[in-house]
Amino acid sequence: MGEPACRACHGQSGQLVLDLGEQPACDYFPPCDDQGPDPVYPLQMWLCSSCGLAQLVADATMPEEPKGTEPAALVVQAADAVERVASAGLLPDGARVAEYGSPHGGSWLGLLAERGLRPVHDGQSADVILDCFGMMHCADQSAALAERTARVSPGGVLLLQYHSLDTIIRCGQWNALRHGHYAYYSTAALAAMLAANGFTAHTAWQFELYGGTVLLAARRGTGAGAEPDGRVQSLLEEDARVGVRDAGVLKDLQDQAQSQAVKLHDWLVSERSAGRTVLGYGAASRAVAFLRLARVGRSLLPAVIDASPGKQGLRMPGTDIPVADPSQLTTHPPAAVLLFVTDLLKEARAAFPEVEAAGGRWVTAEMLGFQPADG
Ligand SMILES: [Zn+2]
Repeated sequence: MGEPACRACHGQSGQLVLDLGEQPACDYFPPCDDQGPDPVYPLQMWLCSSCGLAQLVADATMPEEPKGTEPAALVVQAADAVERVASAGLLPDGARVAEYGSPHGGSWLGLLAERGLRPVHDGQSADVILDCFGMMHCADQSAALAERTARVSPGGVLLLQYHSLDTIIRCGQWNALRHGHYAYYSTAALAAMLAANGFTAHTAWQFELYGGTVLLAARRGTGAGAEPDGRVQSLLEEDARVGVRDAGVLKDLQDQAQSQAVKLHDWLVSERSAGRTVLGYGAASRAVAFLRLARVGRSLLPAVIDASPGKQGLRMPGTDIPVADPSQLTTHPPAAVLLFVTDLLKEARAAFPEVEAAGGRWVTAEMLGFQPADG
């Protein structure tokens, strides 16, 4: 294929910065009795050298991911975010709100209704346009942002929340790259995208979620009188320091992916040799590329436990590893449970005390010397 065109600015110059090879659509969990092979697509990240947006190259069409259980961390963060935005005076009682949600859950509308904000119908303009991990799922980034900005009423605010690219780089979260997630925003790239729509990011908040999540508040208007505040400035400075527009910096993710895949494979082989059973926990989409890159099948990892009823009877895409319900942790506690979503550690430990009672342990990617995994 030729050089991709940027999903945001349509520029054609850029660099491939991460290539995870042929991967199945990570949201496609086939039934266990479907032997495959599952269709695979190249999983690659490209960095636009014009606007700086890091983005997915291939556009594999795929069915919707079965709705997972909403991680408690996401619920807590939403409440925290709403509180902080309200304290800044951006969520006035009676304001009209429209939300672009994520297919993975995490709506703020309930929390906003409690504060007296009123949802509008699809397509109507509103005082508060909220996008909470939604826009990353749009293949056409240019059209997606244009639609959102156009719906902001005069004097209104656009709130955009994203897992920031500087976090992905700092924490080596190469496995944030996945089919269906078309954009990996830095504050710098998003500021450029907003400017192209006549908007300016005027303030921001940061959250620990996924290792570093940013909520940006943007308003119509550019130039004098619409300057970013100190918090946005410091995010932009951090972006520059980390090198979010530097293809060489992003390419480090490639080395990390390869070395972590080797570590995972070797650890599972040594556990198996020692006669210890390891089960996975959290059939998250982003476990998929990791398992395939590490050449892990059910002989090394007999099952991935997931509480979501929608995933029972299915297997991990591109592997022969079945998704199993959590009762297995209670009836046959394994020697170790490998968490693919670190944010779930606290709730998983609390929910299944049987694992540790039987001498088993919870292992996160961090404990194995990998990067902090994220949702
Ligand atoms: Zn671009």
